[in-house]
Amino acid sequence: MIVCKFGGTSVQDAEAVRRVAGIIKARLKDKPVVVASAMGKTTNGLLQAAETAARGKRQEALDLLGKIRERHYRETQKLLAGSAQEAVLEALGTHFKELATLLKGLAILGELTPRSMDAVASFGERFSTLILTEVLRAGGIAAELMDARQCIITDDNFTRAAPLFDLTDAAVREHLLPSIKAGRVPVLQGFIGSTRNGITTTIGRGGSDYSASLVGAALDAYDIQIWTDVDGIMTTDPRMVPEARRVKVISFDEAAELAYFGARVLHPATIVPAVRKKIPVHVLNSYKPEQEGTLITDEARPCENPVKAIAYKKGITIVNITSTRMLMAYGFLRKIFETFELHKTSVDVVSTSEVSVSLTLDDISKLWDVVTELRKISEVNVDGGKAIVCCVGDNLRNIPGLAHLVFTAVQDVNVHMISQGASAINISFVIDEDRLPHAVRSLHDVFFQKLDPNIFE
Ligand code: ASP
Ligand code: MG
Repeated sequence: MIVCKFGGTSVQDAEAVRRVAGIIKARLKDKPVVVASAMGKTTNGLLQAAETAARGKRQEALDLLGKIRERHYRETQKLLAGSAQEAVLEALGTHFKELATLLKGLAILGELTPRSMDAVASFGERFSTLILTEVLRAGGIAAELMDARQCIITDDNFTRAAPLFDLTDAAVREHLLPSIKAGRVPVLQGFIGSTRNGITTTIGRGGSDYSASLVGAALDAYDIQIWTDVDGIMTTDPRMVPEARRVKVISFDEAAELAYFGARVLHPATIVPAVRKKIPVHVLNSYKPEQEGTLITDEARPCENPVKAIAYKKGITIVNITSTRMLMAYGFLRKIFETFELHKTSVDVVSTSEVSVSLTLDDISKLWDVVTELRKISEVNVDGGKAIVCCVGDNLRNIPGLAHLVFTAVQDVNVHMISQGASAINISFVIDEDRLPHAVRSLHDVFFQKLDPNIFE
């Protein structure tokens, strides 16, 4: 059994959906379970409509919804004919009516709770899988539309709910196994789930990858395929460095570091369930299905290159916190991290000295609350417009003098913070954002001059 997950760009229009049907058809002997995202940009559109409604702009919100509806109707009409088309248009129509009612409610309430955001956002995946299932059937595949909300059971931390693994494992098996055993192809929505009480949740933006690996782990799949619109994991972002090459094989640990540090290919949590069951994950390009993509696996393969890939994250803010006389030594770090926790602000890179702590944030929506609190016990200054650069490779553990190589490559760039992860497979550092392209290119030149043909293409 395998899980095939298709991202937003892989189902963005009729042509893309047809390609997906071809990919599934070619894998029927592997007993695929299909997980799909919303058609590209739909989730953003839905959330925008919800926000507009909650600001009281009822008609504007309904117009935004109208655009989303037109698009789904149009692509359905291109994909399906006759009674299949009618059935899908009717089901879509019912969904859109319900959504319009929801938006009107938000306009009256004038407020948008995380719970309502999830209720609205969940429709994107429900639309796309509805269409996809019918297209698969029209192509002679015994597809069956499932409701991911009965399978992915989460806590009630709406908009980024955490899956409850045991309940999810059991629910996935209960709902999907009969369908698979009967020779059908279950199709379910990525990104969405529900609480134990059946309230719709979402597991965080870009979470469909995570859904796919939760399903794969629950079913003991032998392969989890993440179909996207790029060739796989690359040595770095090809938009920044055109010479970037595909990484053919990478370890779970390396892939996890890359995902956390901004390689946009995989949702960071995707790896967790796969690691638990040691299931290989393939990142594949749905626009070039014949290519081999990137294999993420448990077994470390020897590689001549010290660095496997360079990731980066823009829009980073550094917060420097210097302890005042009042609060030295113990309790200081705890207080700092408690403050961040209280304001649900997560921290990426941390470096400390005797009297100060520097840390980086990418979400600064609560920054001023945090700073106000911290200023009661310390001096705080905030420095925006930064970027994190992160070099990842299993080999970094063993190679002496690597830091020297890294920082020689960027010697003309001002480095604000440095951190070598506890896993010792990454070196990350923080620079001014405007120096980012230069830094990444220089590093890429140094580390990917020669390529180990077993690992890179
Ligand atoms: N549709 C959701 C999003 O845009 C989930 C996903 O694409 O993975 O965030
Ligand atoms: Mg995605």
